[in-house]
Amino acid sequence: MIEQTNKNSLQPNTPTLTESISIDPLGDGISSVTLVRASGSDVDVVNAARVSYGKYVTEITEKDAKLIHYLMRHNHTSPFEHNQLSFRIKCPLYVARQWMRHRMNSYNEISYRYVQAKDEFYQPRVWRAPDEVNKQSSGGSIDNPDINATYAQALEHAMKAYNALLAAGVCREQARGVLPMCTYTEFIFTCNLHSLFHFLKLRLGQGAQHEIQMYAQALLRLAAPHFPVSLGAWKELHMPGFDLSLYGLEKLLGD
Ligand SMILES: Cc1cc2nc3c(=O)[nH]c(=O)nc-3n(C[C@H](O)[C@H](O)[C@H](O)COP(=O)(O)OP(=O)(O)OC[C@H]3O[C@@H](n4cnc5c(N)ncnc54)[C@H](O)[C@@H]3O)c2cc1C
Repeated sequence: MIEQTNKNSLQPNTPTLTESISIDPLGDGISSVTLVRASGSDVDVVNAARVSYGKYVTEITEKDAKLIHYLMRHNHTSPFEHNQLSFRIKCPLYVARQWMRHRMNSYNEISYRYVQAKDEFYQPRVWRAPDEVNKQSSGGSIDNPDINATYAQALEHAMKAYNALLAAGVCREQARGVLPMCTYTEFIFTCNLHSLFHFLKLRLGQGAQHEIQMYAQALLRLAAPHFPVSLGAWKELHMPGFDLSLYGLEKLLGD
């Protein structure tokens, strides 16, 4: 059963880890990343690598942990593929568009052909400006009360138009054309650890949009207890300067 996250009333747009399997990465009480299933462990990574020598282990020793770090350093990636992580994601449509560019995964998504869209939109609390140097980046905080009003009005108009089209008898698959990119969608995302490393490397990076970075951090947080050695080795090699303090990841990944 999927458990829901609670609205974070303490600080808007702050991610919340409400219990062990679900995170509200955008902190608006709507967004969510839920770990549906994790199969496999660091032991399976070691066994996949050691099968070359006909060996099998049941628990990780110091030597095995070193082996995992060796595999990581030498791009020996296939031992990280004998496992599966499945997540249920609720995110704005524009985050989903970026996400689904990662093809080496499996996806199934809610269809607004069949389901009527809810009045659920992502409304940022902080408005960033484009970064002057890095064209892929944005930052800071624009202090202008009109922005929230402009955004809210646009959402209201869109929802009114959507409902009016449905009321006029238009099918859902056409009426959805007026929904904005910040409409929430839901999908199941299933990956293996190798593919997760790749996703995290690209989507935790500074060039990635802030919102998808927040989802990537949530994936890392939920996957870490299942593969602490492998994800620790990955982090050490690929993201040495990455701040693990969010969600207390430094304790899980031994930084
Ligand atoms: C910061 C950022 C900005 C981006 N901006 C844009 C943008 O402006 N416009 C845009 O269109 N996209 C953009 N992208 C998406 C990007 O081009 C990739 O599509 C996305 O990051 C998925 O990466 P991937 O193909 O490596 O992953 P996956 O699709 O998961 O593939 C994993 C790996 O499998 C291999 N592979 C998969 N498919 C093929 C194939 N057909 N041929 C050969 N090898 C394959 C490659 O080695 C690949 O790295 C952006 C991505 C990032 C992170």
